[in-house]
Amino acid sequence: MQVVRSRWIQIAPFGYNVPIFVATEALAFAVTAVEMKRVVIQAALVVIALTLFVRVDGPRVLAQNSISIEAPNATIEFPNQLIFTARIRSNAPLERVILEYGVDARTCGSVTARAFPLVEPTTFADVSWAWDMRQSGSEPPGAQIWYRWRIIDSAGNSFVSEDFRVTWIDPNHGWQEISSGLITLHWYRYPPEFAQELLDTALLALDRLSRDTGIVPQDPIDLYIYANTEDMLNAVLYVPGWAGGLAYPEHNVVLIGITPEQIEWGKRTIVHELTHVLIGQLTFSCLSSVPTWLNEGIAVYSEGDLDPLLNMLLNNAVARNDLPPLRALGKGFSQHADRATLSYAQSYSVVNYLIANFGAERMLSLFTALRDGRRIDEALQAIYGFGIDDLDNRWRAVRGMPALPAAVIAQAVADLPMPIATLPPVIAPPQSGPLTIETPTAAPATAVVTPTTDRLPGPAGGAGQPAPVASATGATAPLSPFDLRLAGAVLTFLIGLALLVLSVLKLVAAR
Ligand SMILES: [Zn+2]
Repeated sequence: MQVVRSRWIQIAPFGYNVPIFVATEALAFAVTAVEMKRVVIQAALVVIALTLFVRVDGPRVLAQNSISIEAPNATIEFPNQLIFTARIRSNAPLERVILEYGVDARTCGSVTARAFPLVEPTTFADVSWAWDMRQSGSEPPGAQIWYRWRIIDSAGNSFVSEDFRVTWIDPNHGWQEISSGLITLHWYRYPPEFAQELLDTALLALDRLSRDTGIVPQDPIDLYIYANTEDMLNAVLYVPGWAGGLAYPEHNVVLIGITPEQIEWGKRTIVHELTHVLIGQLTFSCLSSVPTWLNEGIAVYSEGDLDPLLNMLLNNAVARNDLPPLRALGKGFSQHADRATLSYAQSYSVVNYLIANFGAERMLSLFTALRDGRRIDEALQAIYGFGIDDLDNRWRAVRGMPALPAAVIAQAVADLPMPIATLPPVIAPPQSGPLTIETPTAAPATAVVTPTTDRLPGPAGGAGQPAPVASATGATAPLSPFDLRLAGAVLTFLIGLALLVLSVLKLVAAR
């Protein structure tokens, strides 16, 4: 008895791959190799003939879809609006025009927004849709926005344009850019040496982070360096006036206003914000939650040695035994600048303790565990062998402070104020001073920055929407080319299969 292996034959009428399963195994007992060969050749010939026959009808069908789009464009009216426009033509009167758009950002789930510009039932229309950032929340400068047009006419034809892209950025500045590796630095006004110095700082910071913690960038990162804080603040909506640097980890974007006089502060801030972006890349998942003390601690750590003033503030607080339990710093820092500043120093010191005593590899494992959905206590326990309160007390012992009783920790956590509204970015102050003060942000940028969570704006929702232009009606197409192609492919498949079965049965009967 000869065993013949089953196989799949692929035929492709009109680009559709129709798999035909040749069930040779079941019939092998009755058929010799020579007969089998004949059967297969016979069937293949039939299938090829049918394929050629149906193909003759192909091109004519495809030509009937006559919706087209001209001059698609997105005009930036910074920082308020992005206006999408296009000219649409169709043989049949238009039924519906849909603008689909979104932003390149790490998010959980699909975030395609859809807008429905009003169209008259005509065959020609200039359509327009304004995305009003004042209503939706601002995208960060540098955000990569994609969009496409989906058009349906009254004859049932549909058309989807390719995806177009636009960078959401203030067009009035004469932006220049330099790149190295995964970092691109955008700047204007100041000489190239200024930009080069900042880029070198960013690259050094990446080297240090990778050496000390094993954290390496996974996606390209864009640094937008405004000529001063005021320019930067004018570019974003809803950011407090004291913000000096903004990190948008989900967008891989950092914004900082830096004058040449502030360059030392600027370099520290670049490193700090860059670290937030890297941690965002490393830990992003729909489950992860990185406690504030860890996120800020690693960011301050990556700046280099702790600033002398911060160090002094921390030493004084240690001497007074006046530091909150680490557990209380998991969901943001105090709204009071001095307490927040101290929390940055404390967070740095704890992260420094972990890296100095247990190595970089475990720090990387800790972030990985958080990404995979482990809670901080559980993650610390698994990787270091102690939980957060134990870590706190170990660190306090090193600093010469008494251990915190469990009741004190519980009370401190219970006394935490309600978390204030999370601001979109992770923020650093504008002063060229030594401090790095940021807003308390539990989960930076996750919810608030997310721009386009499947909003369904009504037809009248967009500002500045002109009436569509009308023109004469055109011819209609009875069936879309898609339907015809699919029908042809299925028919070919069924006839081929039937003939194959008949041939085999005939052979079996003849024996
Ligand atoms: Zn920070």
